[in-house]
Amino acid sequence: MTVLHETMRPVLDGLDVPTDLLVAGEWRASGSGRRIDVRDPATGEVLATVADADLDDARAAVGAAADAAAAWATTSPRHRAEILVRAFELMTERSEDLARLIALENGKALPDARSEVAYAAEFFRWYAEEGVRLRGQLGRSPSGANRMVVTYQPVGVSVLVTPWNFPAAMATRKIAPALAAGCTAVLKPATETPLTAYAVAALLEQAGMPPGVLNVVTTSTAGPVVEAMLSDPRTRMLSFTGSTEVGRRLLRVAADRVLKCGMELGGNAPFVVLGDADVDSALDGAMVAKMRNGGQACTAANRFLVEDAAHDAFVEGLVARMAEVTVGPGSDESTRCGPLINTDAVRKVDELVRDAVDRGARAVLGGEPADGPGCFYPPTVLVDVPRDARLLHEEVFGPVAPVVRVDDEEDALALANDSELGLVSYLYTGDLARGLRLSERLESGMVGLNRGLVSDPAAPFGGTKQSGLGREGSTEGLLEFMEAHYVATSW
Ligand code: NAP
Repeated sequence: MTVLHETMRPVLDGLDVPTDLLVAGEWRASGSGRRIDVRDPATGEVLATVADADLDDARAAVGAAADAAAAWATTSPRHRAEILVRAFELMTERSEDLARLIALENGKALPDARSEVAYAAEFFRWYAEEGVRLRGQLGRSPSGANRMVVTYQPVGVSVLVTPWNFPAAMATRKIAPALAAGCTAVLKPATETPLTAYAVAALLEQAGMPPGVLNVVTTSTAGPVVEAMLSDPRTRMLSFTGSTEVGRRLLRVAADRVLKCGMELGGNAPFVVLGDADVDSALDGAMVAKMRNGGQACTAANRFLVEDAAHDAFVEGLVARMAEVTVGPGSDESTRCGPLINTDAVRKVDELVRDAVDRGARAVLGGEPADGPGCFYPPTVLVDVPRDARLLHEEVFGPVAPVVRVDDEEDALALANDSELGLVSYLYTGDLARGLRLSERLESGMVGLNRGLVSDPAAPFGGTKQSGLGREGSTEGLLEFMEAHYVATSW
């Protein structure tokens, strides 16, 4: 039985939102017949139920991807590109319905959901273009003895595991390069936000994707189901986006079969404002870096490190801007900050804020979970945050901005780099040369220099240290799903 709540009606008029597993081109219930409730985090209401895959379903999905692999790998890059371009066009045509679906099941504000859909669709277009441009190499060996011919081949069946915070973009950022490379795949979307993934898969089918090329399984037992897929001898690659904790666990499982792994893990982004920065511009960037998705982004500014000369003006401006943010259900047109994803997330944010306050931080805005139904936490600014506060060392994943006063650029850098994570850093300064010099010393895969947003399908997205392995987006994202194949020959 599939429940589709009344609030889904406007979405369903324009969009096919399947709720069953996609295996070998067929939408089917799970073997057990069990289903999972998908809830609106703004109200707690059940929006729909989706199939709950068991181990047999997972193996069937890997089998379907394996059966489709040889034919897909030998299609021409142009053929694959045409399907991906069509998927881009369909996503763009259905962008408003997709945005409303994301706002309902994930809770993010509609403007954020609309941006996500545009970003997500762009991966299809970018990899359609990139897939037909990929070049190998031909050269003579240094000794002159032979020629060296290098081509790139698809790695094979890929298991794609995605989080709930960008239900469309985290899926297309994997699906597009995998398919462009000639790989077939099984997508395991997050249990909180499976509907968007199913809707995107349905659009790919409409775009002409053959059966088995992308299979989708949702499950309430992610651990065993993903492990079964990684242990299957037909699987060759794991591409995971999610927490560092789960990523570490999956790397151990993947090690048994020496799978190729792409890992996009957690972040703890510092947002450094130096004394010579333009404070208004830093505030514009801060609001994007902190409040996109209500702070539920791996790239979210997690700690604001502000030099003395800019500190008071920055805090005053930040409080004023955060106070203006309208909080409400993501699907309301006026909302700019939706609910957190679930009650556990509210509990975790509350715990981190309380810990900071207990250690001496002051809440100058917000600081307490909202009363009433829904998973809401208000925009919060904390000042005088002591350096041992947990929220400077753990992802807050909510609309909370802790501000720390720093003495100078060396103090800021030392604090910025004091993390086992290294996904992205933000740096604001009025001196671009100084900014570039300091950017090189920031220990993260990406730096937003006088910018609060780094994500771009054409750029290599990814982290250093325990924020991950490999890159998504750009040509590097395509090569993640390929292996160099070298022929030594004399002619
Ligand atoms: P998560 O708990 O690690 O879950 C991510 C995915 O892994 C979900 O599909 C989840 O399924 C699945 N999963 C959970 N436990 C598993 C297990 N034992 N074995 C196999 N799969 C398992 O992360 P999340 O809470 O969804 O997402 C937030 C985290 O993702 C944050 O740390 C954020 O920084 C990170 N993130 C990173 C990036 C990046 O590009 N670096 C982008 C976005 C988010 P269920 O939904 O069923 O639990």
